[in-house]
Amino acid sequence: MAKLIDGKAIAAEIRREIAAETEAFKQEKGYAPGLAVVIVGEDPASQVYVRNKHRGCAEVGFYSEGYELPAETTEQELLALIDKLNHDPKIHGILVQLPLPRHLDEEKVLLAIDPAKDVDAFHPTNVGKILIGNYDFLPCTPAGVMQLLARSDISVEGKECVVVGRSNIVGKPQALLLLEANGTVTVCHSRTKNLKEVCRRADILVAAIGKPEFFDASYVKEGAVVIDVGMNRRPADGKLCGDVDFASVEPIASAITPVPGGVGPMTITMLLQNTLTAARAAKQ
Ligand code: NDP
Repeated sequence: MAKLIDGKAIAAEIRREIAAETEAFKQEKGYAPGLAVVIVGEDPASQVYVRNKHRGCAEVGFYSEGYELPAETTEQELLALIDKLNHDPKIHGILVQLPLPRHLDEEKVLLAIDPAKDVDAFHPTNVGKILIGNYDFLPCTPAGVMQLLARSDISVEGKECVVVGRSNIVGKPQALLLLEANGTVTVCHSRTKNLKEVCRRADILVAAIGKPEFFDASYVKEGAVVIDVGMNRRPADGKLCGDVDFASVEPIASAITPVPGGVGPMTITMLLQNTLTAARAAKQ
């Protein structure tokens, strides 16, 4: 039976650390780290994420501002808001909730965020810094995965790591972070041949493809560590589930993250960590 990697408990532990550090920051500086969250349109999932982000800020003692813009907001209006936030000394982190409505150019919008306030680490400047291993912020979900491993005493060094998924927000940066931690990393995607065989080589398997319960025990080597980044609705009952078929994999893995309660709670926690880092670095 696998050890359960309890993301909820680990996230709570890190948030307590952030809250204590924030208290000390406020004592020293006289103001709180500030996060602005911008959402355009009425996507219900995005609205839940945004609410959770504000709740997270309140929990650790941050100042936060929320901007809920109508779906028909123009690119010019959104860019003007970002410019205002870039120059606002109360705001140290800016997060624009993705996806944006189709008439808005996501790349242009992300480029407009001051890299020093880019707490999602999506700006090309920050992506480049991660590539050369000299970064200020790490993207939240992959950074959360690294914390889950570290705080569960799972060493990456010398391990065969297989990441399935190559998106800019999860798969690619995840591969870089595992590489930086001295793992031997393979990245798989929809064109990978013999996916099952490649996955079965993994000591650490990271599943990030967005396909409900895709990975059953036949993809997993006995004793592997399995990290499930997926957040999907199970077609049969609409319940939240991961990319991994937990019931099938749990008996043969050595450690596994559940969904919900695994990687999910870590993402917002890492966003809070990045905002504190940005506030510390701000020249004020
Ligand atoms: P994307 O849709 O952007 O990327 C999916 C990736 O998976 C692509 O690289 C795609 O390959 C690959 N893929 C899709 N199907 C297969 C397949 N059958 N075999 C192999 N590879 C496949 O998704 P994201 O990276 O944004 O998200 C992945 C999952 O993680 C989703 O469930 C999402 O909800 C979840 N997520 C969870 C977060 C959390 O906080 N826990 C945060 C962010 C995401 P190709 O490039 O060839 O198309």
